[in-house]
Amino acid sequence: MSAAADAVTIASSPLLLVREDLRGFAGYQSARSQRLQGSVWLNANESPWRNDADGEGSLRRYPDPQPQALREALAGLYGCAPGQLLAGRGSDEGIDLLVRAVCRPGGDAVLVTTPTFGMYAVSARLHGTRVVDVPLVEDARGWQCDFAAVATAVRRDGVRLVFLCSPGNPTGALLPLEEIARLARELDGQALVVVDEAYLEFADSPSAISLLPAQRNVVVLRTLSKAHALAAARIGSVIADADLIDVLRRCQAPYPLPAACTAQALQALAPQVRSVTSEHVATVRGEREQLRSALAVLPGVRRAYDSRANFVLARFDDAQAAFDALLAAGVVVRDMRSAPGLGDALRISLGTPEQNRKVLAVLKEVLR
Ligand SMILES: *Cc1c(COP(=O)(O)O)cnc(C)c1O
Repeated sequence: MSAAADAVTIASSPLLLVREDLRGFAGYQSARSQRLQGSVWLNANESPWRNDADGEGSLRRYPDPQPQALREALAGLYGCAPGQLLAGRGSDEGIDLLVRAVCRPGGDAVLVTTPTFGMYAVSARLHGTRVVDVPLVEDARGWQCDFAAVATAVRRDGVRLVFLCSPGNPTGALLPLEEIARLARELDGQALVVVDEAYLEFADSPSAISLLPAQRNVVVLRTLSKAHALAAARIGSVIADADLIDVLRRCQAPYPLPAACTAQALQALAPQVRSVTSEHVATVRGEREQLRSALAVLPGVRRAYDSRANFVLARFDDAQAAFDALLAAGVVVRDMRSAPGLGDALRISLGTPEQNRKVLAVLKEVLR
């Protein structure tokens, strides 16, 4: 047997990591759960008339919980099978579903690597689950994840979910895929390794989706909120082992996807629209290094980090003065100073080329 086939057979089912009390859980049986056929639908207490404000009446009925067309379009976009993908209300919902399905309420633990996205700890806290932090390490190259320390902490602290963010928010740092793969192998049967790829489009780098199906404890989060410019439509995807996706679906709300949002997402995934999206992503990539290198040489900028995302993180001698000057010019950036270890940092999202020039002009003026 080949080494690859061997790897497939030794990877254990991620269902073993689902809460024991939820393994046989069917979830809410909605009017759409049963695959019935008919022409007069009187099984969901919907109105037989459209709302007078609802033009074609497209909002009259409860939506399909997981519209096949959307699942297929997203699976095509990300390069997985439709059965490996769950669509939901942003990746935020994916994070929450994972915490609830895997960690026992009031027990178990999730692991985060700060500085990182705040929602992992928020979801854990709401569920009464402990948060174990293995902070990123800063060195001359940027931010590194201490994968060995992560593996040790998982074993020591009863961690069931590891949240990695790549590229990282707010660091912009990409994590090496081989290290993620090695960690997932090491934690097989012990924890799910969740890779939040909210910014991967900007990184021009392969997705951790490529680690599936050989490594069944890998879970990837993707979103249409950032590169695809659909934050208000709230369309995020969890991509994972198909058995695990089934479990997460049963834990999800009965009708998570508003019909109007699904329709908008499908239009956004049409080839012509995707090509415009790609142009915008390419523009951000070009602007990013320009902004970073221009920031790095300004007096009063301690460090401007390399980024593989659509923002640049920078440390300032006087972050307050920089923040205030930008705000006075009408430019709102993210103040990171309350984050541990980032007491002097701002996170600046890339805007249009014109907006980025404005940011630089303001900072040049105030930091003279
Ligand atoms: C913005 C962001 C998200 C949220 O995505 P939604 O799909 O809009 O919920 C998830 N993860 C990270 C790291 C983010 O920065």
